[in-house]
Amino acid sequence: MKQALSELQTRDLRHVWHPCSQMKDYEQFPPIVIKKGQGVWLYDEDDNRYLDAVSSWWVNLFGHANPRISKALSEQAFTLEHAIFANFTHEPAIKVAEKLVALTPEGLNKVFFADNGSAAIEVALKMSFQYHMQSGKTKKKRFLALTDAYHGETLGALSVGGVDLYNEVYQPLLLDTVRAQGPDCFRCPFQDKPESCQAQCIGFVEEKLAEHHEEVTAVIIEPLIQAAAGMKMYPPIYLKRLRELCTKYDVHLIADEIAVGFGRTGTMFACEQANISPDFMCLSKGLTGGYLPLSVVLTTDKVYDAFYDDYGTMKAFLHSHSYTGNTLACRVALEVLTMFEEEHYIDIVQTKGERMRKLATEAFCHLPYVGEYRQVGLVGAIELVANRETKVPLPSEERIGYQIYKRALAKGLLIRPLGNILYFMPPYVITDDEMSFMIETTKEIMEQFFWEREG
Ligand SMILES: *Cc1c(COP(=O)(O)O)cnc(C)c1O
Repeated sequence: MKQALSELQTRDLRHVWHPCSQMKDYEQFPPIVIKKGQGVWLYDEDDNRYLDAVSSWWVNLFGHANPRISKALSEQAFTLEHAIFANFTHEPAIKVAEKLVALTPEGLNKVFFADNGSAAIEVALKMSFQYHMQSGKTKKKRFLALTDAYHGETLGALSVGGVDLYNEVYQPLLLDTVRAQGPDCFRCPFQDKPESCQAQCIGFVEEKLAEHHEEVTAVIIEPLIQAAAGMKMYPPIYLKRLRELCTKYDVHLIADEIAVGFGRTGTMFACEQANISPDFMCLSKGLTGGYLPLSVVLTTDKVYDAFYDDYGTMKAFLHSHSYTGNTLACRVALEVLTMFEEEHYIDIVQTKGERMRKLATEAFCHLPYVGEYRQVGLVGAIELVANRETKVPLPSEERIGYQIYKRALAKGLLIRPLGNILYFMPPYVITDDEMSFMIETTKEIMEQFFWEREG
């Protein structure tokens, strides 16, 4: 069933190549032209509205076109939009650095700016490597990462990523990463109960570290949620034990909190729940509340000091991007961090998280094809399976997640599943009514879809 294209859709398809898309799909399902946003809602050119349950690719925190952020951005735009960040600085960047150091786990005292999540990962990988080169540990040339990890799509970031869908074709170009099996609580190989779990599966990492630690510079991980892999969640104890292993084997721990930072998991940063400090923390996405690309890597004085020397020693970290520390983005980040201080969003995420858990558990847990509903903070995920007992996945060719996505859009709900995992990651400003709409609509669509599929 093909719809007539609007003029903007026609022009889009003539020249625009969209991310993460098979463009041929757009023949049947053209891009939706969004003309404005407000709160959790996006409005298309025909004034249909969609509840943005994915926070615009996990970046939005306080709603679209947030008046407070928009005002700060606009004022900054009339004052200073950008300045070279080598040998120059500006107050928004300084204040953002100060606030981040105060908010993040102990010991992360230095802030390096970049301009998107993948770039932050590249920075952390390069810094860790160069640190070891400059500290006499010249054998340390590899990274250790988990299966199902996602750290972005530039070549270095892809190299540590473990989602085949994104990696496979590029394999000949990628770094030789040490791969350890990650946590898989839904299909736990040790049948651990959540209440008594001691993260036995950390043994997979320990095995690899025992064998390779002399050549490993850093372990990189997404704390608490492997998001792109399908919102795979695991308990804080795993992080705690990983931190111990990294210290024991003298390798850095890189915490990629790009998706989970800024309150998503119910604490400002996910690492807090394990009470650990990583050697590097990468942040982006929520940092600007979904307004502008910006990222940072925080690290320790110890790392910083290994680069600090006379120019002639050539120990400096020379990485830069044109938009490093962009003034507009920093001003927005400053407003976002100030809003966290003044408007109690961590409490809000916890309260709304509890409500979402209650509604979603009631709505989904008894449905056929629901393997489990899981949630941390304000991230909830439904894992669809062919069989609830055996947990056998649904056939990926059927693209069931995608079918449900299309039906949800027709009902004014934007959920963009990851394979056969449906998830909710709404902006923190979602109201009770909006949340009920999100859960109820999803439930109706699932019931209808699977009823029809049964034939
Ligand atoms: C999104 C994401 C990245 C990459 O960030 P981009 O800004 O898209 O390059 C890296 N790590 C995690 C965990 C992410 O979710």
